[in-house]
Amino acid sequence: MFFFFVGGLQQEVRQVLKSGVSKCTYCGSSVDLVNTEKVLKLFFVPVWRWPAKDPLYHCAYCKNFFPYNYSLPPAAESPEAVAEALRCRFCERAVDADFRFCPFCGSEL
Ligand SMILES: [Zn+2]
Ligand SMILES: [Zn+2]
Repeated sequence: MFFFFVGGLQQEVRQVLKSGVSKCTYCGSSVDLVNTEKVLKLFFVPVWRWPAKDPLYHCAYCKNFFPYNYSLPPAAESPEAVAEALRCRFCERAVDADFRFCPFCGSEL
């Protein structure tokens, strides 16, 4: 995280996949599942963006990012929830039925 402070490289939310999916471990607010990108800024102007491969949890309140699957509630792993999951028509991977965007390829569902 050294670059974050001196190099103008920031991690930013690119797309909210699903809001209120979990609880922040720092402040207890609800966190969103998001796609992120790293943004290189020079004098506050974005000059380059790298979309991140994996979705992350993001707390809008304390601005922390967490790895996906960091603290999924056990209830979400029930067989019924898996059966209800959709498949992304672009990459064929199982995604949560109420996601607006595929967390793997970013396509709108
Ligand atoms: Zn928080
Ligand atoms: Zn997909």
